[in-house]
Parts: sequence; structure tokens; C-alpha cells
Amino acid sequence: MYIITDTCVECGKCEPECPVDAISHGSKYTIDESCVDCGLCAAVCPVDAIYRSPSFK
Ligand code: SF4
Ligand code: SF4
Repeated sequence: MYIITDTCVECGKCEPECPVDAISHGSKYTIDESCVDCGLCAAVCPVDAIYRSPSFK
């Protein structure tokens, strides 16, 4: 799965890109376990705050 790191500037661009609505915005933007690893969110992030996490399948 992908994760959103602290470099996120909360621009909101990633959220509508996710085909499975895995991105939500509480106190900050986060990705939940429904992520299907499509990578679309990472592709639109202007500050490269989204990475594929090595610690999750
Ligand atoms: S990698 Fe794809 S499925 Fe996962 S959070 Fe990003 S847009 Fe959604
Ligand atoms: S696109 Fe990047 S900077 Fe914008 S809200 Fe998503 S993670 Fe944060």
C-alpha cells in the first residue's frame, strides 16, 4: 500500500484520483488499507509526499 508522509502540503489533489476512495482527510491526509497500489495518487502529488510503503503488502 501507499502512504502519505509529513511533507504533504494538504493540496487535496490526490484524494479525487483514488479509484477506491482509500484517501481520507481528517487532521491530515491518510491512505487506508483499501489501497490497491495503483499509484495514481503519487503521480499527481506536487511535493512527492506519497510513497509505496515497504512495510505493507
Ligand atoms: S495508490 Fe491508488 S488505490 Fe492507493 S491510495 Fe493511491 S490512488 Fe488510491
Ligand atoms: S497530493 Fe500530495 S500534497 Fe496534495 S494532499 Fe495529496 S499527499 Fe498531500
